Amino acid sequence: MSLLREAERCLANQHAHNLNAFITPLSRSGQWLDRVKEADQRSEKGTPKSAIDGRLISIKDNICTRQLPTTCASGILDKFTSPFNATVVEQLEGAGAVIAGKTNLDEFGMGSHSVHSRFGPVKNLRRDSAGHEISAGGSSGGSAVAVAAEQCYAAIGTDTGGSVRLPAAYTGTVGFKPSYGLISRWGVVAYANSLDTVGILGTNTSNPFSTTTIPATQPVSPNPHDHEFSPSYKPPPLSTRLTSKPLRIGVPLEYNISELTPSVRTAWLLSLAHLQKQGHTIHPVSLPTTKHALSAYYVLAPAEASSNLAKYDGVRYGTRADGPDGNGQADGVLYSNTRGTGFGSEVQRRILLGTFSLSADSMDNYFIQAQRVRRLVQRDFNDVFSAQHPLFDAQAAHSDSVGAGASAGAEVDVIVCPTAPSSPPRLSDLTGDSEKSSPLDAYVNDVFTVPASLAGLPAISVPVTVAESSQDSGADAEELAGIQVVGQYGDDELVMSVGELLA
Ligand code: GLN
Repeated sequence: MSLLREAERCLANQHAHNLNAFITPLSRSGQWLDRVKEADQRSEKGTPKSAIDGRLISIKDNICTRQLPTTCASGILDKFTSPFNATVVEQLEGAGAVIAGKTNLDEFGMGSHSVHSRFGPVKNLRRDSAGHEISAGGSSGGSAVAVAAEQCYAAIGTDTGGSVRLPAAYTGTVGFKPSYGLISRWGVVAYANSLDTVGILGTNTSNPFSTTTIPATQPVSPNPHDHEFSPSYKPPPLSTRLTSKPLRIGVPLEYNISELTPSVRTAWLLSLAHLQKQGHTIHPVSLPTTKHALSAYYVLAPAEASSNLAKYDGVRYGTRADGPDGNGQADGVLYSNTRGTGFGSEVQRRILLGTFSLSADSMDNYFIQAQRVRRLVQRDFNDVFSAQHPLFDAQAAHSDSVGAGASAGAEVDVIVCPTAPSSPPRLSDLTGDSEKSSPLDAYVNDVFTVPASLAGLPAISVPVTVAESSQDSGADAEELAGIQVVGQYGDDELVMSVGELLA
């Protein structure tokens, strides 16, 4: 199929499905059509700019684009258009990709179901076995649904604690979160910047792979605009360990929790059996700090968020609320009106949580303890991976881990585990007056994704078919669960290769 026909089909799908995947969809006409036609000509001549030349890539609406608004699904940025492109957008366009629109999300990336959006919830293309609408996962639910509904070729999301992997698992797509810092964060609106990672969603493992190679291999990555940039830092060489066969696959014992839904457990077992059949070996490993990772994440991420979101005050940034401007006796009204009406309830909850844990009285008990847990989570992973962490002092690592319960001799190449403990909940349980699930229920969905985020490790979620189920009341023909592969920092290609073995 020509690139133009492929693009036109995506455009038609964007307008045909009412899934609310886009905040700003692609316009029916525009310069983008010429760009696709030019890419078609290059492809005919055999001189494409890259594997994504002329392909439509959607961008999550918390990533800055000069041509289209960037709302972060928030009332406070509903009128914002960035004066610059994010580095990742520049890189994609430089490789010939065409922006397929801006996708819907949980406000500022805070959420697990893409229901906390000023523009309404994202709808999953899939339904549950009784035919009910289900969560698309979040916060990059719009990007995942856009991919699943073939409204674009691939999509860019952000993953702070699982926001690319969880929607991938719920929509039956592939979601890849690279090593922290591998893709530039410049132009990505900060939620929790020590965790925020640009990720890629596609329909199969080779598709997001080709998308990621573009940004990841650019000489500007990491980028001098990024806070983490250090001129002496060299990204770890990729693909050096692909030859280590058979692979040693780690199965973290702590992830085998009683709350696992049967279909998720089955998908996990099937995946391990599949890898074993291909000659790889399975090894139990222990990641003892896992049980504290979720609590640490929900202290650290809101703490960073409360600081990052302080700038939206209606004066320097953000849509200003109507009403008194704070002169004289009405002091502070502008600020509270703007933030009280601009931010949704989940964002306000995070700001309150974060402000509390950073306050002088609770700093030591919450924020500092959570930072310590984060270190332990990182150390747990280092103890089980055979590859060294390229940024970690091996000597210190060894003396640190003596007596710390390291699983000596159990070293593995990658870890394979479920992406989420259960199947997607019904949308009706998450929205409207009959809202049955609590914020805590949503946080628990991230239990298997946050450890890799806290440690900055590469992880991919791939869909694994559990069973063909009967097609009653419009239900899905197959039951799927997302299975996650996690690797050592810099082992991005290895992680993607193992993901490919599973798909
Ligand atoms: N669900 C998690 C949260 O709400 C993760 C979000 C994300 O990765 N952006 O913080």
